[in-house]
Amino acid sequence: MSNLEAAPDVTLCHAEGDDHAVAEVFEPRAVPLGGLRAIEVDRVLPQRFLPTVGAWCFLDSFGPDDTRMRVLPHPHTGLQTVTWLLSGEIHHRDSLGSDVLVRPGQLNLMTAGRGVAHSEFSRDAGPLRGLQLWAALPAGSAATAPAFEQQAELPVYAAPGVTATVLMGSVGGVTSPATAHTPIVGADVTVTGAAVLPLRPDHEHAVLALDPLAVTGVEVGAGRLLYLGTGRTELRLAGTGRAFLLGGEPFPDELVMWWNFVGRDHEEIVTARADWEAGADRFGVVAGHDGARIPAPDLPGVRLAPRRRRTG
Ligand code: MN
Repeated sequence: MSNLEAAPDVTLCHAEGDDHAVAEVFEPRAVPLGGLRAIEVDRVLPQRFLPTVGAWCFLDSFGPDDTRMRVLPHPHTGLQTVTWLLSGEIHHRDSLGSDVLVRPGQLNLMTAGRGVAHSEFSRDAGPLRGLQLWAALPAGSAATAPAFEQQAELPVYAAPGVTATVLMGSVGGVTSPATAHTPIVGADVTVTGAAVLPLRPDHEHAVLALDPLAVTGVEVGAGRLLYLGTGRTELRLAGTGRAFLLGGEPFPDELVMWWNFVGRDHEEIVTARADWEAGADRFGVVAGHDGARIPAPDLPGVRLAPRRRRTG
Protein backbone atom coordinates (compact mmCIF):
# COMPACT_ATOMS: atom_id res chain seq x y z
CA MET A 1 0.00 0.00 0.00
CA SER A 2 1.23 3.45 -0.83
CA ASN A 3 0.00 6.76 0.41
CA LEU A 4 -0.83 8.26 -2.99
CA GLU A 5 -2.38 11.52 -1.94
CA ALA A 6 -0.97 14.29 -4.16
CA ALA A 7 -0.39 16.48 -1.14
CA PRO A 8 -0.03 14.03 1.72
CA ASP A 9 -0.88 15.28 5.15
CA VAL A 10 1.92 16.01 7.52
CA THR A 11 1.45 14.15 10.73
CA LEU A 12 3.36 14.33 13.96
CA CYS A 13 2.63 11.17 15.87
CA HIS A 14 2.60 12.57 19.37
CA ALA A 15 1.86 10.79 22.61
CA GLU A 16 0.56 13.00 25.38
CA GLY A 17 0.30 10.35 28.08
CA ASP A 18 -3.44 10.81 28.53
CA ASP A 19 -3.99 8.04 31.00
CA HIS A 20 -7.71 7.44 30.94
CA ALA A 21 -10.35 5.38 29.21
CA VAL A 22 -12.50 7.19 26.68
CA ALA A 23 -14.93 6.05 23.97
CA GLU A 24 -14.86 8.22 20.88
CA VAL A 25 -16.02 7.27 17.38
CA PHE A 26 -13.92 8.35 14.40
CA GLU A 27 -15.13 8.32 10.78
CA PRO A 28 -12.89 7.07 7.98
CA ARG A 29 -12.25 9.24 4.94
CA ALA A 30 -12.23 8.01 1.34
CA VAL A 31 -8.84 8.21 -0.42
CA PRO A 32 -8.17 7.14 -4.03
CA LEU A 33 -5.40 4.57 -4.32
CA GLY A 34 -3.46 3.38 -7.33
CA GLY A 35 -3.65 6.16 -9.89
CA LEU A 36 -6.35 7.22 -12.33
CA ARG A 37 -8.32 3.97 -12.34
CA ALA A 38 -7.99 3.82 -8.61
CA ILE A 39 -9.74 1.76 -6.06
CA GLU A 40 -10.89 3.86 -3.17
CA VAL A 41 -9.78 2.99 0.34
CA ASP A 42 -11.16 4.13 3.68
CA ARG A 43 -8.39 5.80 5.67
CA VAL A 44 -9.11 5.11 9.32
CA LEU A 45 -5.75 6.31 10.74
CA PRO A 46 -4.20 8.81 11.05
CA GLN A 47 -7.05 11.07 12.15
CA ARG A 48 -6.65 14.80 12.57
CA PHE A 49 -6.66 14.51 16.37
CA LEU A 50 -5.64 10.86 16.67
CA PRO A 51 -2.31 10.28 14.92
CA THR A 52 -1.48 6.99 16.65
CA VAL A 53 -2.94 4.12 18.66
CA GLY A 54 0.06 2.51 20.35
CA ALA A 55 2.65 2.35 17.56
CA TRP A 56 -0.09 2.01 14.90
CA CYS A 57 0.09 5.16 12.79
CA PHE A 58 -1.81 4.20 9.63
CA LEU A 59 -4.83 2.04 8.88
CA ASP A 60 -6.54 1.63 5.51
CA SER A 61 -9.61 -0.53 4.98
CA PHE A 62 -10.42 -1.54 1.39
CA GLY A 63 -13.09 -3.45 -0.52
CA PRO A 64 -15.03 -5.54 -1.07
CA ASP A 65 -14.28 -4.43 -4.58
CA ASP A 66 -13.92 -6.03 -7.99
CA THR A 67 -11.54 -3.26 -9.03
CA ARG A 68 -7.90 -4.15 -9.19
CA MET A 69 -5.21 -2.91 -6.86
CA ARG A 70 -2.17 -1.93 -8.91
CA VAL A 71 0.41 -0.21 -6.75
CA LEU A 72 3.82 0.10 -8.42
CA PRO A 73 7.11 0.02 -6.45
CA HIS A 74 7.30 2.69 -3.76
CA PRO A 75 9.50 3.16 -0.68
CA HIS A 76 9.00 3.00 3.08
CA THR A 77 11.17 3.92 6.06
CA GLY A 78 10.85 3.76 9.84
CA LEU A 79 7.77 1.52 9.97
CA GLN A 80 6.37 -2.00 9.60
CA THR A 81 3.52 -2.71 7.17
CA VAL A 82 0.88 -5.31 8.03
CA THR A 83 -1.26 -6.59 5.16
CA TRP A 84 -4.31 -8.57 6.27
CA LEU A 85 -6.84 -9.82 3.72
CA LEU A 86 -10.41 -10.87 4.40
CA SER A 87 -10.90 -11.97 0.78
CA GLY A 88 -9.03 -11.95 -2.51
CA GLU A 89 -5.30 -12.19 -3.16
CA ILE A 90 -2.43 -9.70 -3.53
CA HIS A 91 0.89 -10.33 -5.25
CA HIS A 92 3.61 -8.78 -3.07
CA ARG A 93 7.10 -8.15 -4.43
CA ASP A 94 9.82 -6.24 -2.58
CA SER A 95 13.44 -5.14 -2.88
CA LEU A 96 14.52 -7.97 -0.54
CA GLY A 97 13.57 -10.42 -3.29
CA SER A 98 10.26 -11.49 -1.74
CA ASP A 99 7.76 -12.56 -4.42
CA VAL A 100 4.72 -14.00 -2.67
CA LEU A 101 0.95 -14.20 -2.70
CA VAL A 102 -0.86 -12.60 0.22
CA ARG A 103 -3.93 -14.64 1.14
CA PRO A 104 -6.72 -14.29 3.72
CA GLY A 105 -5.81 -15.45 7.22
CA GLN A 106 -2.08 -15.04 6.60
CA LEU A 107 -0.11 -12.21 8.17
CA ASN A 108 2.26 -10.40 5.83
CA LEU A 109 4.66 -8.20 7.76
CA MET A 110 7.27 -6.01 6.09
CA THR A 111 9.77 -4.18 8.27
CA ALA A 112 11.04 -1.15 6.36
CA GLY A 113 13.68 -0.05 8.86
CA ARG A 114 16.24 2.14 7.05
CA GLY A 115 14.55 1.53 3.70
CA VAL A 116 12.67 -0.93 1.51
CA ALA A 117 10.53 -0.79 -1.63
CA HIS A 118 7.59 -2.97 -2.62
CA SER A 119 4.73 -3.38 -5.09
CA GLU A 120 1.21 -4.72 -4.54
CA PHE A 121 -1.03 -6.06 -7.30
CA SER A 122 -4.34 -7.84 -6.71
CA ARG A 123 -5.04 -11.11 -8.49
CA ASP A 124 -8.26 -12.43 -9.95
CA ALA A 125 -9.37 -14.31 -6.86
CA GLY A 126 -12.76 -12.79 -6.14
CA PRO A 127 -13.59 -9.46 -4.49
CA LEU A 128 -10.67 -7.86 -2.69
CA ARG A 129 -11.24 -6.91 0.95
CA GLY A 130 -8.69 -6.24 3.63
CA LEU A 131 -6.68 -3.95 5.83
CA GLN A 132 -3.26 -2.44 5.71
CA LEU A 133 -1.70 -1.06 8.87
CA TRP A 134 1.60 0.63 9.57
CA ALA A 135 3.35 0.41 12.92
CA ALA A 136 5.99 3.06 13.64
CA LEU A 137 9.36 1.69 14.69
CA PRO A 138 10.83 3.00 17.96
CA ALA A 139 14.06 5.02 17.93
CA GLY A 140 16.29 2.01 18.57
CA SER A 141 14.83 0.05 15.61
CA ALA A 142 13.99 2.82 13.14
CA ALA A 143 17.16 2.22 11.09
CA THR A 144 17.16 -1.57 11.41
CA ALA A 145 17.74 -3.79 8.37
CA PRO A 146 14.61 -4.34 6.27
CA ALA A 147 12.83 -7.69 6.54
CA PHE A 148 9.75 -9.52 5.30
CA GLU A 149 7.89 -12.36 6.98
CA GLN A 150 4.72 -14.35 6.44
CA GLN A 151 2.89 -16.02 9.32
CA ALA A 152 0.37 -18.54 8.05
CA GLU A 153 -0.37 -20.16 11.42
CA LEU A 154 -1.54 -17.48 13.81
CA PRO A 155 -2.70 -18.28 17.35
CA VAL A 156 -6.34 -17.79 18.32
CA TYR A 157 -7.71 -16.62 21.67
CA ALA A 158 -11.15 -18.11 22.29
CA ALA A 159 -13.78 -17.32 24.93
CA PRO A 160 -17.59 -17.61 25.01
CA GLY A 161 -19.00 -15.54 22.12
CA VAL A 162 -15.64 -14.51 20.66
CA THR A 163 -12.49 -15.65 18.89
CA ALA A 164 -9.50 -13.39 18.27
CA THR A 165 -6.77 -14.24 15.75
CA VAL A 166 -3.67 -12.58 17.15
CA LEU A 167 -1.57 -10.94 14.41
CA MET A 168 0.77 -8.93 16.62
CA GLY A 169 1.41 -8.98 20.36
CA SER A 170 -0.84 -10.88 22.79
CA VAL A 171 -4.49 -11.25 23.74
CA GLY A 172 -5.19 -13.00 27.05
CA GLY A 173 -1.77 -14.71 27.06
CA VAL A 174 -2.08 -15.91 23.44
CA THR A 175 0.94 -14.47 21.62
CA SER A 176 1.68 -14.00 17.91
CA PRO A 177 5.06 -15.22 16.60
CA ALA A 178 5.37 -12.07 14.45
CA THR A 179 8.30 -9.69 15.03
CA ALA A 180 7.21 -6.63 17.00
CA HIS A 181 9.45 -3.75 18.06
CA THR A 182 7.14 -2.14 20.63
CA PRO A 183 4.51 -3.43 23.09
CA ILE A 184 1.66 -3.64 20.58
CA VAL A 185 -1.48 -5.64 19.83
CA GLY A 186 -3.41 -6.33 16.63
CA ALA A 187 -6.16 -8.96 16.41
CA ASP A 188 -8.97 -9.95 14.05
CA VAL A 189 -12.00 -10.50 16.28
CA THR A 190 -15.12 -12.51 15.41
CA VAL A 191 -18.08 -11.94 17.72
CA THR A 192 -21.00 -14.39 17.93
CA GLY A 193 -22.80 -13.02 20.98
CA ALA A 194 -22.11 -11.26 24.25
CA ALA A 195 -18.38 -11.56 24.89
CA VAL A 196 -15.44 -10.17 26.83
CA LEU A 197 -11.83 -9.85 25.66
CA PRO A 198 -9.05 -9.17 28.18
CA LEU A 199 -7.04 -5.96 27.66
CA ARG A 200 -3.84 -4.61 29.17
CA PRO A 201 -4.67 -1.43 31.08
CA ASP A 202 -1.26 0.09 30.31
CA HIS A 203 -2.07 -0.08 26.58
CA GLU A 204 -4.33 2.25 24.67
CA HIS A 205 -6.83 0.54 22.35
CA ALA A 206 -9.19 1.15 19.45
CA VAL A 207 -11.64 -1.10 17.60
CA LEU A 208 -12.39 -0.90 13.86
CA ALA A 209 -15.87 -2.37 13.31
CA LEU A 210 -15.92 -4.42 10.09
CA ASP A 211 -19.60 -5.14 10.79
CA PRO A 212 -21.95 -3.15 13.03
CA LEU A 213 -21.23 -4.19 16.64
CA ALA A 214 -21.77 -2.98 20.19
CA VAL A 215 -18.36 -2.26 21.74
CA THR A 216 -18.24 -1.30 25.44
CA GLY A 217 -21.95 -0.50 25.06
CA VAL A 218 -21.39 1.86 22.11
CA GLU A 219 -23.07 0.98 18.79
CA VAL A 220 -20.27 1.23 16.23
CA GLY A 221 -21.21 1.25 12.54
CA ALA A 222 -19.25 -0.73 9.96
CA GLY A 223 -16.07 1.05 8.94
CA ARG A 224 -15.92 3.28 12.00
CA LEU A 225 -13.17 3.32 14.63
CA LEU A 226 -13.94 3.45 18.35
CA TYR A 227 -11.00 4.87 20.31
CA LEU A 228 -10.92 3.58 23.88
CA GLY A 229 -7.89 5.23 25.53
CA THR A 230 -5.87 3.48 28.21
CA GLY A 231 -6.83 2.02 31.56
CA ARG A 232 -9.20 -0.74 30.45
CA THR A 233 -8.84 -4.35 31.63
CA GLU A 234 -11.53 -5.75 29.35
CA LEU A 235 -13.43 -5.13 26.14
CA ARG A 236 -17.13 -5.93 26.19
CA LEU A 237 -18.56 -6.90 22.80
CA ALA A 238 -22.09 -7.76 21.65
CA GLY A 239 -23.68 -8.66 18.32
CA THR A 240 -22.60 -10.80 15.40
CA GLY A 241 -19.74 -9.84 13.16
CA ARG A 242 -16.11 -9.00 12.79
CA ALA A 243 -13.84 -6.25 14.14
CA PHE A 244 -10.16 -5.40 14.29
CA LEU A 245 -8.59 -4.62 17.67
CA LEU A 246 -5.51 -2.43 17.64
CA GLY A 247 -3.53 -1.08 20.55
CA GLY A 248 -0.27 -0.85 22.38
CA GLU A 249 1.81 1.16 24.77
CA PRO A 250 1.24 4.84 23.94
CA PHE A 251 4.10 5.66 21.56
CA PRO A 252 6.84 7.58 23.38
CA ASP A 253 8.48 9.40 20.47
CA GLU A 254 7.47 12.37 18.38
CA LEU A 255 7.36 11.27 14.75
CA VAL A 256 7.04 13.09 11.48
CA MET A 257 5.04 11.07 8.95
CA TRP A 258 4.96 12.20 5.34
CA TRP A 259 3.98 10.18 2.24
CA ASN A 260 5.36 6.67 2.86
CA PHE A 261 8.05 7.70 5.31
CA VAL A 262 8.15 7.81 9.10
CA GLY A 263 11.03 9.78 10.59
CA ARG A 264 12.13 11.71 13.64
CA ASP A 265 12.44 15.11 12.01
CA HIS A 266 12.04 17.13 8.83
CA GLU A 267 15.60 16.47 7.63
CA GLU A 268 15.19 12.71 7.85
CA ILE A 269 12.13 12.87 5.58
CA VAL A 270 13.85 15.21 3.10
CA THR A 271 16.79 12.78 2.88
CA ALA A 272 14.54 9.74 2.39
CA ARG A 273 12.63 11.50 -0.38
CA ALA A 274 15.83 12.59 -2.14
CA ASP A 275 17.26 9.06 -1.85
CA TRP A 276 14.14 7.54 -3.44
CA GLU A 277 14.17 10.07 -6.28
CA ALA A 278 17.88 9.38 -6.86
CA GLY A 279 17.41 5.59 -6.91
CA ALA A 280 19.72 5.20 -3.90
CA ASP A 281 20.81 1.73 -2.80
CA ARG A 282 19.03 2.01 0.56
CA PHE A 283 15.69 1.20 -1.12
CA GLY A 284 16.92 -1.48 -3.51
CA VAL A 285 15.02 -2.55 -6.64
CA VAL A 286 11.74 -4.45 -6.94
CA ALA A 287 12.19 -7.00 -9.73
CA GLY A 288 9.60 -7.43 -12.47
CA HIS A 289 8.52 -3.85 -13.15
CA ASP A 290 11.08 -2.74 -15.77
CA GLY A 291 11.99 0.27 -13.68
CA ALA A 292 8.42 1.56 -13.29
CA ARG A 293 7.93 3.14 -9.86
CA ILE A 294 5.88 5.73 -8.03
CA PRO A 295 7.66 9.09 -7.85
CA ALA A 296 7.60 10.96 -4.57
CA PRO A 297 5.24 13.94 -4.47
CA ASP A 298 6.67 17.41 -3.93
CA LEU A 299 7.46 18.39 -0.38
CA PRO A 300 5.48 21.29 1.01
CA GLY A 301 7.33 24.59 0.86
CA VAL A 302 7.55 24.76 4.64
CA ARG A 303 9.18 22.61 7.29
CA LEU A 304 7.10 19.55 8.04
CA ALA A 305 4.97 20.76 10.90
CA PRO A 306 3.52 18.81 13.78
CA ARG A 307 -0.01 17.57 14.13
CA ARG A 308 -0.81 16.80 17.72
CA ARG A 309 -3.18 14.62 19.59
CA ARG A 310 -6.15 16.53 20.94
CA THR A 311 -5.94 16.94 24.69
CA GLY A 312 -8.63 17.63 27.26
MN1 MN B 1 3.42 0.28 0.71
